[in-house]
Amino acid sequence: MPRKLVVANWKMHGNLNTNQHLLNGYIEKLSALTHVDVVVCVPYPYLAQAQLLLKNTNIAWGAQNLSKDTVGAFTGEVSANMLLDFGASYVIIGHSERATAYCESDENIATKFSQAKAHGLTPILCVGETLIEREAGVMEMVVAKQIDTIIHTYGASIFANTVISYEPIWAIGTGLAATGEQAQSMHKFIRNRIASFDEAAATSLKILYGGSVNPQNAVQLFVMQDINGGLIGKCSLSAHEFEAICQAANQSFS
Ligand code: PEP
Repeated sequence: MPRKLVVANWKMHGNLNTNQHLLNGYIEKLSALTHVDVVVCVPYPYLAQAQLLLKNTNIAWGAQNLSKDTVGAFTGEVSANMLLDFGASYVIIGHSERATAYCESDENIATKFSQAKAHGLTPILCVGETLIEREAGVMEMVVAKQIDTIIHTYGASIFANTVISYEPIWAIGTGLAATGEQAQSMHKFIRNRIASFDEAAATSLKILYGGSVNPQNAVQLFVMQDINGGLIGKCSLSAHEFEAICQAANQSFS
């Protein structure tokens, strides 16, 4: 099995005090894990703190969003170059919580993906279906549309060395994770879809699973062929639970 990637998504949690405690916990517990790549995506104001505490460790850091524009009169936005100023190397794009609450379109998300890539940040594109869409059996169609917007605008080669996180919306923060088989089936579909346009890009792409991953279900997800790691929300707020998930990923490397 290739090396896995585990990404913490802190969402809008934390403060200077609790972050310091949590990041020190990560450093202490994760420094011995040499067969997994770990990233923590923090709220914007804490990028400097992440940089200060994580530089010279085996943990990378990133943001949870970025502007689709490079520079200019865009009040409240944060550009790719600003993230780079704080040593960020990853950025989450199109998380369903943003897509729903801030009406982000597939087109907007595609532009953000290309901004990140053009500036040397690794984009983590979130895709996934609602429960109604799964029950109607149209989940592959929904995910294909999200990916195809990027392929049709920028070409499939843009996916080379990037990350897609399959996050069924019904599994995020609900405690109801997809089974290993459900996730594997969608991951294979995603990889095949990109491979049908660009095989090399599909091979270099990491596909993470996100949605109620915890220390109990991590192993059954990470043993799956096309699951290259996880995007972790709630359980990333505990150094102990996050370590257990990273351990499962570390052990699946062979
Ligand atoms: C997420 O927000 O990306 C996520 C997967 O959250 P949780 O792990 O809490 O379901």
